[in-house]
Amino acid sequence: MKLSAFGEKFTSNSGILSLMDDLGNALASGEEMIMMGGGNPAHIPEVESAFKRRLQRILDNHDEFVRLIGTYDAPQGEKHFIEALVKLLNNRFGWGLTTDNIALTNGSQNAFFILFNLFAGTYSDGTTRQIQLPLAPEYIGYADAGLSQNFFSATRPDIELLEGNLFKYRVDFSQLELGEHTGAVCVSRPTNPTGNVITDDEVARLDAMAQAQKVPLIIDGAYGQPFPNLLFTPATPMWNPNTILCLSLSKLGLPALRTGIVIAREEVIKALSGVNAILSLSPNSAGSMLALEMIRDGSILSLSDNVIRPFYQQRAQVAVDHLRQRLAGYNFHIHKPEGAMFLWLWFEGLPISSLELYSRLKARGVLVVSGHYFFPGMEEEWQHSHECIRVTYTRSPAEVQRGLDIIAEEVIRAFNEG
Ligand code: PLP
Repeated sequence: MKLSAFGEKFTSNSGILSLMDDLGNALASGEEMIMMGGGNPAHIPEVESAFKRRLQRILDNHDEFVRLIGTYDAPQGEKHFIEALVKLLNNRFGWGLTTDNIALTNGSQNAFFILFNLFAGTYSDGTTRQIQLPLAPEYIGYADAGLSQNFFSATRPDIELLEGNLFKYRVDFSQLELGEHTGAVCVSRPTNPTGNVITDDEVARLDAMAQAQKVPLIIDGAYGQPFPNLLFTPATPMWNPNTILCLSLSKLGLPALRTGIVIAREEVIKALSGVNAILSLSPNSAGSMLALEMIRDGSILSLSDNVIRPFYQQRAQVAVDHLRQRLAGYNFHIHKPEGAMFLWLWFEGLPISSLELYSRLKARGVLVVSGHYFFPGMEEEWQHSHECIRVTYTRSPAEVQRGLDIIAEEVIRAFNEG
C-alpha cells in the first residue's frame, strides 16, 4: 500500500501509539498485569455516582435524551455548556470571558493537534515555525501531533535537589529563547509525566516572553484548575487574551466521552471551530451534557476540591512513602509530586537504560512508561532522559505497593549489576 507523506508520518511508530497499544494489549491479554503505565483516571465511587444520577435524569427526560444522542451541536460545541462555563470562570477568576472565548473539541488531545498545526509548520510566506516546549520532560501525546518534521523545540530544565529524595524541575530561562522560529509556547500545568507545577513566577515570565514575541502561550490544564484541580501545591490560574488555556473532562472521570475545552481569544476560537467542522462536523455533546448541571451549580469545583484532589494526593503520598522505604540507601530521586497522577522516578547513574528497566518490569508483570519518550523536541542527547520512568499511582494502594516493591527490586538488581 502506497501512502502519502501524511499517511507515512501518522502510521510510523509513534510513542503515543506504542504506549496506548501496550496498555490495550496488556488489558486484553488477561494476564495479571499491574497497570502503572497509563493515564486513565481512577474510578472514584462518589464521582461515578454523581454522573450516574445525572445520566438517569437525562434518560428520564425525553428532550434531554434526544439532545444526548440525536442532535449535532454547532462546531464550537454545546452552547448551554459554554454559557455556563463562561459564568463559572468569570465568577471565579474575573477573566471577562464571553461565549466567543470557548470552544469544545473531542478530547483535549484533539485540541492540541489543531492548535499546534494552526501555529507551527509552514506559513504562507514560506517560513516555518515550531512549538516551543519551555520545560522538558513534557507530555508524550504532543510528540507526533505535528503535520511536518522538526515541529517542536524543547528546553532542558534546571534540576533542583530537595530534601527527602525529592527534586524539582525549573524552567531554565537562561537557555530559553523565543524568536522568528517560534509559533507558540506550550506547557502542561500540572505536567504529565512529572507531576511538576510550574510556579506563578515561571508562568508570568513565559507569558511576558510570549507576548513580547507576539505568539500565544498554550497552557495545558488537563489536570489543572479549576477542574479536576489535581494540584497539591498553591498555584494561581492564569488567562489573558494571549493565553490559550486547554481543559478537559477526562481526568474528572469522563475520558471515554472525549470532551476538551479551549479558552482563547475570539479569532482562535473561530479558527478552531472551523477546523472542528471539517474534521468532525461537531464535537461530542455527551460529556458537556453530563457535566452541564455541575458547571451551572458549581458542584464541579467542590467535587474536584473535596473528592478528586484529596483522592490522588493521598495515593501520591502512600506511593512516595512506600518507595522511600523500599529504596532507602540507593541513589534515587522522586520529582516532588505537586499534581497530576504520576510519580516521576529518577535513578541517577542506573547501569541500564530506562527502556531496559521497562522491559524487565513488564516481564515481571508491572507496566510503567520509560522516561525517554517524554522529551519531544529535545535534539541533544541527555543521559538523564534514559534514567527516568513514569509510574501511575491510581490503582488500589495494595496493587500500587506490590508494583512499587517489584520496581524497587529490579532497580536494586540493576544497581548491583553495575
Ligand atoms: N494533556 C495532558 C498533559 C494529558 O496527560 C492528556 C491525557 O492523558 C491530555 C492532554 C489529553 O487528554 P484528553 O484528550 O483525554 O482530554
